[in-house]
Amino acid sequence: MAAKIQAIRGMHDILPEQTGLWQEMETRVRDLMRRYGYREIRMPVVEVTELFKRSIGEVTDIVEKEMYSFADRNGDGLTLRPEGTAGCVRAAIEHGLLGQPQRLWYQGPMFRHERPQKGRYRQFHQIGVETFGLSGPDIDLEVILLSARLWKTLGLDVLDLELNTLGTSEERKRYREELVGYLRGHYQQLDEDSRRRLETNPLRILDTKNPAMQELVADAPTLMEHLGVESRAHFEALCAGLDACGVVYRINPRLVRGLDYYARTVFEWVTDRLGAQGTVCAGGRYDGLVDQLGGRATPAVGFAIGLERLLALLQEQGFGDDSVALDAYLVTVGAAAQQLGMQLSEQLRDAVPALRLMSHCGGGSFKSQFKKADRSGARFALVLGEGELER
Ligand code: ATP
Ligand code: MG
Repeated sequence: MAAKIQAIRGMHDILPEQTGLWQEMETRVRDLMRRYGYREIRMPVVEVTELFKRSIGEVTDIVEKEMYSFADRNGDGLTLRPEGTAGCVRAAIEHGLLGQPQRLWYQGPMFRHERPQKGRYRQFHQIGVETFGLSGPDIDLEVILLSARLWKTLGLDVLDLELNTLGTSEERKRYREELVGYLRGHYQQLDEDSRRRLETNPLRILDTKNPAMQELVADAPTLMEHLGVESRAHFEALCAGLDACGVVYRINPRLVRGLDYYARTVFEWVTDRLGAQGTVCAGGRYDGLVDQLGGRATPAVGFAIGLERLLALLQEQGFGDDSVALDAYLVTVGAAAQQLGMQLSEQLRDAVPALRLMSHCGGGSFKSQFKKADRSGARFALVLGEGELER
């Protein structure tokens, strides 16, 4: 026997046992998007590397160390997409979609070279929402409401909403100076990663997972205190909207998000049921990105859901699917019965489109076929043998 070839570490097959659940989850998402008037967009999984460098930011985890980048045969630098927003914005600019407000969604595989562990893979799947051309807190509210309704549709009540505002880039700049000042004052307490980030991306230090640094970041000055009038009003209006719609949230001043392009609203839906990888959905406003990628300045807000984490949570909550259940299994014994069996099966499928019918293939005795019928989980066995043929 030849040596076996295996799947790449961190990239998983989704086997038939699982695909029913995936389909059920995807169907409910699709229905929900329609109910809110969002339309699907499908982008390629490969883009030029420059797109991600320019949008996600050179000094983020993704661009620094997680991208699957390679040279095309003609030397072009390409990258397997690590997320969907950059490609969606590229497509929206390229096809002139931004002349009017857009409410879009996408789904598909994403690729990041991370250390594989529970809830963290090298190929994983996201469903994302991106809206363009709307700058007010009303659309921020809508995308959060949409996500909240998704959990409801899926029967999940174990996700908590965390909310923050990052202000505008000017407000962030002023804040950054004060934060860097504070962190420099505690240089001895910073870990190696944070010392490096102090120069490149100090806000990310707030997001540190290092337990030894939690106290330090908890006492850091917050951006909230540096917001201008408009940013504050935007945030307050969003909070008021959430209150009015009965959505519970927690303001987390240390929620800064990993990507560079966010502005004002950022949010995450988190759970304590999945261990360390507890963020199921993350999003926010990214008003500067379209302009940064060569389009006319266009406000934007969106989010992305990690589907492996969502599915793990659903399974933990006992979410099931009946997608494999057969109604009937047709047993046919003898050559003549086999032939007629196929014809009758087709007639049944014409007459009863909802019927889930499996016709036996491969011959064999009554006994062995009944065993297969039993194992198929079908509620009924239909039997066609010589006796039935004669009658
Ligand atoms: P994390 O802090 O967990 O690395 P992130 O900030 O890198 O997350 P985003 O880029 O915001 O994640 O992606 C949105 C969502 O996609 C995450 O909240 C998560 O549910 C999912 N996700 C991100 N990276 C992975 C991965 N490597 N494997 C599985 N799911 C992932
Ligand atoms: Mg990450």
